[in-house]
Amino acid sequence: MTSSDAHKFDGEILREYDIRGQVDKNFSPKDVYTVGRAFGSIVRRDGGERVAVGYDGRLSSPELESSLVKGLSASGIQAVRIGCGPTPMASFAGETLDVHGAMMITGSHNPPQYNGIKLTLDGKPFFGEDIQKLGRQAEAGDFEDGAAEATDFDIFETYVQRILQDYQAGEDLTVAWDPGNGSGGDVVEALTKRLPGTHYVINGEIDGNFPAHHPDPTVEKNLDQLKALVAEKNCDLGFGFDGDADRIGVIDGQGRVLWGDQIMVLLARDVLKELPGATIIADVKASQVFVDEIKRMGGVPLIWKTGHSLIKSKMLETGCPLAGEMSAHIFFKHGYYGFDDALYAAVRLLSIVARDDESLADMRDAMPQMLNTPEIRFDCPEDRKFKVAEEVQARLAGRSDVDVLTIDGVRVTNDDGWWLLRASNTQAVLVARCESSTAEGLERLKAQLTEQLAASGISAPDLS
Ligand SMILES: [Zn+2]
Repeated sequence: MTSSDAHKFDGEILREYDIRGQVDKNFSPKDVYTVGRAFGSIVRRDGGERVAVGYDGRLSSPELESSLVKGLSASGIQAVRIGCGPTPMASFAGETLDVHGAMMITGSHNPPQYNGIKLTLDGKPFFGEDIQKLGRQAEAGDFEDGAAEATDFDIFETYVQRILQDYQAGEDLTVAWDPGNGSGGDVVEALTKRLPGTHYVINGEIDGNFPAHHPDPTVEKNLDQLKALVAEKNCDLGFGFDGDADRIGVIDGQGRVLWGDQIMVLLARDVLKELPGATIIADVKASQVFVDEIKRMGGVPLIWKTGHSLIKSKMLETGCPLAGEMSAHIFFKHGYYGFDDALYAAVRLLSIVARDDESLADMRDAMPQMLNTPEIRFDCPEDRKFKVAEEVQARLAGRSDVDVLTIDGVRVTNDDGWWLLRASNTQAVLVARCESSTAEGLERLKAQLTEQLAASGISAPDLS
């Protein structure tokens, strides 16, 4: 029987890892209600009764949250409403409360007009085909019916305590924090009041207009204010977070950025001391330094596909204690639950710096220094984007001077270093990156990449 709630989504909002759109353009309260109906039905058929629901600080989030709760209720699922907070707080609720999944209304690191939903079902990421199936189910009106009553649950204090529980004190540090007016602001305020040392917080007020800067710490210009604060207060280090605090930004005492793979090397050191020989996962964009350093510290580096849900699934499969992406999502299973929590990662890194004689800047300088391009993104027709990488792979097959990894696109390693070409899973875009230990090597890698793109009829982007 087709329900009167049957509804067709704009195809663009059903993405690889989440549901996301522009509010009042292609993403409305009606869409969110329907997601609640469909996901609620999926949970019920999976034997669940309750789902944790959280939302971020965007202006549209409270209304969307209430639509989501109504949709869940109409499918007979009880929403356990944890209120406004970071995405990892909703994941924490999903792990620790008697619920069968977690849903988070969030636009993450995107501009203010965006919003979306991140979903977890029974501790596993809900993504890819799961999301497409949810879309078809909604269109068919294939729902369970019910009338469940939602409840409120204040998890904030338990969550803050849980993060602080793993802080290992050492020397008192002076630390700068910039939650970027994102939904991690209140948690940052609470953490910094209780952590030892001296803490300076800017942009801690949750504000969906993001008045200070765009809430994405993986873009260096968004860290300008944090760098200025580190310099002004002579801080040992600084932390930035994205709009829902599942992405971290780290600045050393000299105002320099530590990127995702560098943060991973530092965090892995502690984990490998306790778990020698453990597998540590990073995505295919990570530096050779990650691979070499993990090996040097007695671990097994595993380079895996880029993408939040793919990394998380691989972690579950391999029993890996720590994984991270260049996009600065860091997943601790060691001591924690295995979901990406930038606030927890910050406290773990803080413990390492507090207990070490070296400063964070010294630790950064002790790593082998590489020259690399940033992540270069350029347009490529949707129907060509995966084929280009396959063509490159075919052309390089059998060549003895290169080593080709095809886990996700092509990552080509030779004596100069490596270059990567992969298709974005979410846009009609190719992504490239090159890394070498020398300037000449980097130029040769760029030339090789350009030559391969030309052979596939793609004019090279600016690789400088
Ligand atoms: Zn995020």
